[in-house]
Amino acid sequence: MRAAVVTSFKEPLAIEDRPIPEPGLGQIRVRIETAGVCHTDIHAARGDWPVKPVMPLVPGHEGVGIVDALGEGVTRVSIGQRVAIPWLGGADGTCEFCVKGLETYCVNPTFTGYTVDGGYREYSVANADFVGIVPDTIDPLDAAPLTCAGVTTYKAVKAARVGPSDIVGVVGIGGLGHLAIQFANKFGYKVAAIARGSANATLAKKLGATHYIDSTSSNVAAALQQLGGAQAILATAPSSKSMSEAIDGLAPNGRLMVVGADSAAIEVTPIQLITGVRTIQGWASETPADSEDTLRFAELSGVRPMIETYPLERAAEAYARMISGKAQFRVVLTM
Ligand code: ZN
Repeated sequence: MRAAVVTSFKEPLAIEDRPIPEPGLGQIRVRIETAGVCHTDIHAARGDWPVKPVMPLVPGHEGVGIVDALGEGVTRVSIGQRVAIPWLGGADGTCEFCVKGLETYCVNPTFTGYTVDGGYREYSVANADFVGIVPDTIDPLDAAPLTCAGVTTYKAVKAARVGPSDIVGVVGIGGLGHLAIQFANKFGYKVAAIARGSANATLAKKLGATHYIDSTSSNVAAALQQLGGAQAILATAPSSKSMSEAIDGLAPNGRLMVVGADSAAIEVTPIQLITGVRTIQGWASETPADSEDTLRFAELSGVRPMIETYPLERAAEAYARMISGKAQFRVVLTM
């Protein structure tokens, strides 16, 4: 079978011929149909993060396909079912977090496409207990980005703890932001989309935003306060500057949900937090149950990602497209 492989942190993805993997105990084998490209995959391929993946690596934690073989002891899924293989590929089940049902914080986790090979290949194996079942009505091309970008934003909007008709600001209209706007709209919130320039105003409204704030021509915090203040702001753009600028736009008890990963500091004074009792909260990953929730909610609500597709052979080109920042908005590899 063909696989797109990272052989060193300096080389582009290479296509290799590899044996089809066999599922072990508790695992399934999936004939991959689509695999989304996430910025995390690019960080993995470059070795950007302190804990580096082991080379050679098949990246990809948005792999979607059909179960075609079951390992010993698998009862949760059956052959022929369509599943999505998410970032959290497994947990030890015994650490203090796992026993509390917080597998996301497992001290011994398996990360798909990082600590084990991921979805950029024609066949992949996965822990049966951690895959998401994909509803029949969701196209595998759409299911791929929903598996990471989708579940991250769905859960961040959910965890923002706001009420119907409250104002939710979404900073950034990209791979995460264009989904966050849709989820917030379908949850029944008034959505203020915030981005640089006016080019995305029409698209933001189409995705369900009620207001559009151009951060290059207006004061974001003042504009949000004019609307009554945002009960939550989802910061999806990896820009600490844009987050810092938005904080004063929070309503009393408002919450800044930090999703976009920037390594620069967010600037905020204690006074800004104390007056208004505001919260800044980071948001990371999700449990296996969240993946299925997201796919089911997408099925019910019609939330879908905007994607560009590339065949597996052109995976290196797909990476370049994501890095260019010009992709509208997620790139999906097809087998
Ligand atoms: Zn991801």
